[in-house]
Amino acid sequence: MIFMNIVLLGAPGSGKGTQGKRASEEFGLAYISTGDLLREAVKKGTPLGVKAKSYMESGGLVPDDLVVGLIKEKARGLQKGFLLDGFPRNILQAKMLDEITKIDLAINLQVDEDEVIQRLGKRRTCQKCNAVYHLENKPPKKTGVCDVCEGELILRTDDTESVIRERLRVYKEKTLPLTEFYEKRGIIKNIKGQGDINEVYSRIASVIRSHKE
Ligand code: AMP
Repeated sequence: MIFMNIVLLGAPGSGKGTQGKRASEEFGLAYISTGDLLREAVKKGTPLGVKAKSYMESGGLVPDDLVVGLIKEKARGLQKGFLLDGFPRNILQAKMLDEITKIDLAINLQVDEDEVIQRLGKRRTCQKCNAVYHLENKPPKKTGVCDVCEGELILRTDDTESVIRERLRVYKEKTLPLTEFYEKRGIIKNIKGQGDINEVYSRIASVIRSHKE
C-alpha cells in the first residue's frame, strides 16, 4: 500500500476505468470515479441524480458544485491515498481539488480519436458493478453477462455515436487544458494508452512505482 493521490486523465474511452481500477487494487488506493458515482445517483433517483441526468445524457459536464460535493464527501476521512477517474474535468475543478488535498501525480492516457470512437461503440458496462468490457479486446466469458458479478452488460446511453462526438468535443475544450495545468506543476506523466491492455497497465504501474521511490 502506498499513500499517494493520483488523477487519471484521458479522453472518454482511453481506458481510465479499466486501468484505474486495476492500479487502485495493486497499490491499495481508493478508486473514485465521478462517472460511476453519478450513474449510481441517476439509477437510484437521488436529488443529485435527478439534477445530473440530462447533462450526462447529452454528453455535457454536470455542474461543478455538484461534482465537487461528491469528491469532498468521498475524500473526507479517507485513510489511504486515492486514484481519481474522471475528475477533475476542467481547470476550475482542478483548483477546487487543490483546496481539498494535495495531488502527487497526474497520469495522462493518450489514445487516438479514431480508436476512442471505435472503443466506445463496442464498450459494454455492467449495470450492477460498473465493470467494463469491450466486445473484441476484452469480451466477457458469457455474452451479455458480467464475469465479476453476473450483472447484465449494457451499452451506456452516452456511448452512442452522437453523444460520443459531443463528449469528445467537451473533452478537447474543457479537459485537455488540464494536461498543461499539471505539466506546469511538473507532476504529469503521459502514457501511450494504445496497444495490449496488459502492456498499457505495465506502463502505468511502472510510473506509479517509480514515483513513490
Ligand atoms: P465518465 O464515466 O467519466 O465518462 O462520465 C460520464 C458522464 O458523467 C460525463 O459525460 C459527465 O456528464 C459526467 N461527469 C463525470 N465526471 C464529471 C466531472 N468531473 N464533472 C462534470 N461531469 C462529470
